[in-house]
Amino acid sequence: MALPSDRAPLAERVEELLAAGGPLPIVSAGDPVLRHGTEPFDGQLEPALLARFVEALRVTMHAAPGVGVAAPQVGVELRIAVIEDPAPVPDEVRLVRGRVPQPFRVLVNPAYEPVGDGRAAFFEGCLSVPGWQAVVARHASVRLTGQDEHGRAVDEVFTGWPARIVQHETDHLDGLLYLDRAELRSLSSNEAMAERWAQPTPVEASAALGFQLP
Ligand code: ZN
Repeated sequence: MALPSDRAPLAERVEELLAAGGPLPIVSAGDPVLRHGTEPFDGQLEPALLARFVEALRVTMHAAPGVGVAAPQVGVELRIAVIEDPAPVPDEVRLVRGRVPQPFRVLVNPAYEPVGDGRAAFFEGCLSVPGWQAVVARHASVRLTGQDEHGRAVDEVFTGWPARIVQHETDHLDGLLYLDRAELRSLSSNEAMAERWAQPTPVEASAALGFQLP
């Protein structure tokens, strides 16, 4: 449990970050803040400051652009992330990857557990590892629990691409990067992705680069 005197530094840090306005700088891999894990949100930010922080995360995600940002990616060790995916992809990709639009959501103190045994393996990337993508086999469906930004309980099943997004962002809050779970032989630059691996599935990449798919 945090004492009130422990709460000031985090709130001050967030105030400092927000003072500049606009998108927040995104921390890159190699910064320990991405590896520390986070403390559960328990009112460390007053409601008005939490609302401003969430809005700044949303602006940062849109500017990147990305489909999710976790607080440690802007240097804040709190268990908070935002997600949103307009899913601007061709129908063929949408069908195979389950990449359906995901409306804006705030995840506070999220945790996930698998629903069923299904696995889905696709290329993904991370705003904190710019320029690269790799294949990650993840649970095809997860049950996400936690709260929203108003403190209301969340208990919801995510499938398809939204399931991938919530696993990726929740992992950030535990100090994990997608590379920790990736098939490292699949690691591909954005240039290689555009030139070679734009197919809806990573089957061709798996054969050519020599990595396993589930
Ligand atoms: Zn990420």
